[in-house]
Amino acid sequence: MLADSYGRVATDLRVSLTDRCNLRCTYCMPPEGLEWLPKDEVLTDDEVNRLIRVGVTMLGIEEIRFTGGEPLLRRGLTGIVAAATALRPRPQTALTTNGIGLARTAPALAEAGLDRVNVSLDTVRPDVFEKLARRRRLPDVLEGMAGAAAAGLTPVKVNAVLMRGVNDDEAPDLLAYCLDHGYQLRFIEQMPLDAQHGWRRDTMVTADEILDRLSAAYHLEPADDHTRGSAPAELFYVDGGPATVGVIGSVTRPFCGACDRVRLTAEGQVRNCLFAREESDLRPLLRGGGSDEDIAARWRAAVATKLPGHGINDPSFLQPSRPMSAIGG
Ligand code: SAM
Repeated sequence: MLADSYGRVATDLRVSLTDRCNLRCTYCMPPEGLEWLPKDEVLTDDEVNRLIRVGVTMLGIEEIRFTGGEPLLRRGLTGIVAAATALRPRPQTALTTNGIGLARTAPALAEAGLDRVNVSLDTVRPDVFEKLARRRRLPDVLEGMAGAAAAGLTPVKVNAVLMRGVNDDEAPDLLAYCLDHGYQLRFIEQMPLDAQHGWRRDTMVTADEILDRLSAAYHLEPADDHTRGSAPAELFYVDGGPATVGVIGSVTRPFCGACDRVRLTAEGQVRNCLFAREESDLRPLLRGGGSDEDIAARWRAAVATKLPGHGINDPSFLQPSRPMSAIGG
């Protein structure tokens, strides 16, 4: 088991497959992109598969989320998914993606055993999309979501970040779009994880504001708390249900006490939290002849040191040096 000293057990593994991305969302990356990891520092497909196998068969990982950067840019993605879903006990698998290229790859991902996708969609207006993501790719994203649904990668969950003065008026429109298409929408509060360090507490759009804006157009009712468990999203029935909308209040409504997540970066670092300032490097063991037991032992030791909370609201909070795209969101 991957247990920490506060009684939490990590069973949900977020695996970053690349730090590269084909969008430049303003809350994540600067327009020019970032200095990408050199190719030889990124784990190979075999190395990723081995870490996932150790996690599932020796450490109690039950759920795997592939992310990045943009995981659809990883050539070996389908093979990595197939290797994960061939493990026993079989983990649940999901992919967090910006949706570009998903229409084409969804059938192969479903064939490889992928269970579902989370697609990031912050706006349904092409001009706003271009402003936020600095690319004209909204039609590709919408096609990707439809392709995922058609391939059975359901429920399609949609992640949206609202930015003040850009798309903060769009919460009801996004919900209408998702309800019409049968997608499950969740709003994520903007977090201090952008490479440019532009996040500001006084301008971020809070969970309370998101709920107020939605409530102007829809009747929201909290869904039974028992359904939340360790899930980060607080769920609300929309107009009596059964459709729901979620709000992930990472900053103003932290849920660290129920966190069951652990992360692997694309170059093999274990991270206990998006906001962790420490990492534990598994790559020297992978490349230096370490045994599976050696890897499991280092991984266990890393999780044992997990802090009780992310600390964003502490006066001494310091933003981690890695941006979201290099951690794996
Ligand atoms: N490229 C994929 C995607 O777009 O979903 C996966 C990686 S992306 C880093 C994962 C999620 O993190 C996306 O939903 C994105 O909107 C979100 N994200 C990125 N930077 C963020 C920030 N500063 N605050 C909140 N969410 C952020």
